[in-house]
Amino acid sequence: MDPDCLFCKIVAGSIAAKRVYEDDVCLCFADVNPQAPTHLLLIPKEHIGSLAVAEKERISPVLGHLMATAADVARSAKLVNGYRIVANTGADGGQTVGHLHLHLLGGRAMSWPPG
Ligand code: 5GP
Ligand code: ZN
Repeated sequence: MDPDCLFCKIVAGSIAAKRVYEDDVCLCFADVNPQAPTHLLLIPKEHIGSLAVAEKERISPVLGHLMATAADVARSAKLVNGYRIVANTGADGGQTVGHLHLHLLGGRAMSWPPG
């Protein structure tokens, strides 16, 4: 828990979010500024700043859990035509919140390349 971290505050419940799924390891909630009909965020409950700072040994099981949970949530949300999972990382990656997260976007066709 980083007391200055927005997403840690969402985990703790001191900032409200539309929670979609949670377990011991992760929390999934709706993005406040959705970029697609379905736009969810999946975060580890422990504070990890980003992919760039995470140690491989420590992060591997967490990332596996997040990805597998994203697929489960996508199934529950009936994103049968597909979806996109994104992990913006660092300044050039467009990361604005310093707590590792996956975006799960779906409900419309995505373009490529991203901006
Ligand atoms: P990033 O830009 O770091 O990849 O993604 C951060 C995401 O967090 C953005 O899509 C932004 O809309 C979302 N976000 C920022 N503040 C809040 C908040 O207070 N609540 C929720 N639910 N999402 C937030
Ligand atoms: Zn945090």
